[in-house]
Amino acid sequence: MSRVVAVSATRRTDLGRERVALNSSYVRALIAAGLTPLLVPPLLDPARAGEALDAASGLVLTGGEDLHPSSYGETPHARLEDTDQARDAVELALYRAARGRGLPVLAICRGIQLVNVAEGGTLYQDLASDRPSAINHVDPKGRHRLRVEPGSLLHRTVGDPASVNSRHHQAVKILAPSLRAVAWAEDGVIEGVELLDEGAPWLLAVQWHPEDDVETGLFEGFSSEASQHSVVGHGIGKQDAIR
Ligand code: MN
Repeated sequence: MSRVVAVSATRRTDLGRERVALNSSYVRALIAAGLTPLLVPPLLDPARAGEALDAASGLVLTGGEDLHPSSYGETPHARLEDTDQARDAVELALYRAARGRGLPVLAICRGIQLVNVAEGGTLYQDLASDRPSAINHVDPKGRHRLRVEPGSLLHRTVGDPASVNSRHHQAVKILAPSLRAVAWAEDGVIEGVELLDEGAPWLLAVQWHPEDDVETGLFEGFSSEASQHSVVGHGIGKQDAIR
């Protein structure tokens, strides 16, 4: 049974050389949960990005740049930060392909924003000025309390964390109609979503960074789900072996 999962990545330029990059904390958290993460470069042709899922039993959408507002029909805010429309296109294609295949999806930080946009929602382009609050959501060392909806998939997966880290510039504004908010900061900012349809494949999207925290429930829940998802190619191989 495959335990390989596809993981989205960013790109950055060091001393004039462009590199594909991903914080190792994602990779370590996935390995610790029994998974084999394979990075998907943000440079693929979006039309073929779904092929990256051929060997995968799940998709992880990771943190990074702001989403470009053209992906939800808005013009850039003065305080929009770095964007990468090539990465946006690859991740939107990956997400749609994963949903089409019924694969479990774990979406983190930028990932929850990507899921909301892919499903038809919008974002606060600059949370601090678009929705002023007593909570500083962009503090690299900051934490805030969290309320999790009892009975939700998220609650069954992580319980009630006393607090979560918070270093996100953007956040869900208008929630997509296919999604359900299941976690909030005390100021009402949406911090967790899942699919409204309870019969849908496993999907959890969170605004915090579980890979940089002690909480491992999300990775374990995702791993358990991914390990149950058979990969088509492997299934054919098994049948051939029986013959
Ligand atoms: Mn937050």
